[in-house]
Amino acid sequence: LHPQDNSSSAADKEFENSIRPKEIEQFSGQPQLIENLRIFIKAAKIRGEALDHTLFHGPPGLGKTTLSRIVANEMGVNIKETSGPVIEKPGDLAGLLTSLEANDVLFIDEIHRLSTVVEEYLYAAMEDFHIDIMIDSGPNARSIQLNINPFTLVGATTRSGLLSAPLLSRFGIKSRLDYYNADVLKKILERSAAILNTPITEDAAFEIARRSRGTPRIANGLLRRVRDFAQVLNDGQIDLGITQHALKALNVDENGLDEMDNRVLSTIIEKFKGGPVGITTIATAVGEEAGTLEEVYEPFLIQEGFIQRTPRGREATLKAYQHLKKTPPGGKNG
Ligand code: ADP
Repeated sequence: LHPQDNSSSAADKEFENSIRPKEIEQFSGQPQLIENLRIFIKAAKIRGEALDHTLFHGPPGLGKTTLSRIVANEMGVNIKETSGPVIEKPGDLAGLLTSLEANDVLFIDEIHRLSTVVEEYLYAAMEDFHIDIMIDSGPNARSIQLNINPFTLVGATTRSGLLSAPLLSRFGIKSRLDYYNADVLKKILERSAAILNTPITEDAAFEIARRSRGTPRIANGLLRRVRDFAQVLNDGQIDLGITQHALKALNVDENGLDEMDNRVLSTIIEKFKGGPVGITTIATAVGEEAGTLEEVYEPFLIQEGFIQRTPRGREATLKAYQHLKKTPPGGKNG
């Protein structure tokens, strides 16, 4: 259930795909992003052109892959999916690019993990829809320029801070996905439960929603486990009682925080007297990259009011002390 864990099994993937929204109407939340995307897609279709290259960035599990497929679906084109670390050399990329039909989508997940040579090779393709390929070898080796069909590169990344300026500048559309509030997650869960033919009460859906770290992937994952408890212990009905029982048995945090969130909070509180403490210092103490903390973990902790940014570093809030059942310095708990 860890959002940062990319090693999901085939069964997890199959489950995810079975409840993944395929049309833009089924995608909940991110209202501004969706409104803009509808306009850009419509305009591209009126012109009969490929959609501009699009970057989706934001923490894992918020819908970047889902949106990429929706873009292709709404544009009425094919999508080819790959990921940064899979494209090892320019030749791999050339193979993908030459196989695209006009206006198709090429989706590159984890685009921050492209190697520099591959990234540079991508520039001309993105800009002028041509690539250089080497023909012949030895003394006869020479490169020729090959035109490819116009296409849309859709990139997804959790770490937009790692993208180079030249790559960033080649995306006409850059959209950040934010954490979902509990009301939207509740709607997503109700839709998923309906697809799974599982009855769920409103208060149960809300309970799962508010403990899902603002993340649809986590919400759906919890729903799947709670459904197990409901089927064995409650005739398949997901109500508040069975939900609370299941979430307790699964050790799900009362506030939906994950292990790293809790580690960050307890580090700030126990090792640094509640802060302020710099992000690099926290990163070293918890054994995570500073950039990952900043782009993947911290936004949620700040949004939910567990830490605050000050000019001198990060500070734990009263809410963080209460969450970890610690006494704040010079104050009463609660
Ligand atoms: P990412 O690519 O950002 O890691 P995904 O697109 O794979 O995330 O989404 C993870 C899961 O969450 C998918 O199973 C998808 O069905 C669900 N999901 C994500 N965003 C939404 C949304 N806005 N509405 C409904 N389901 C969503």
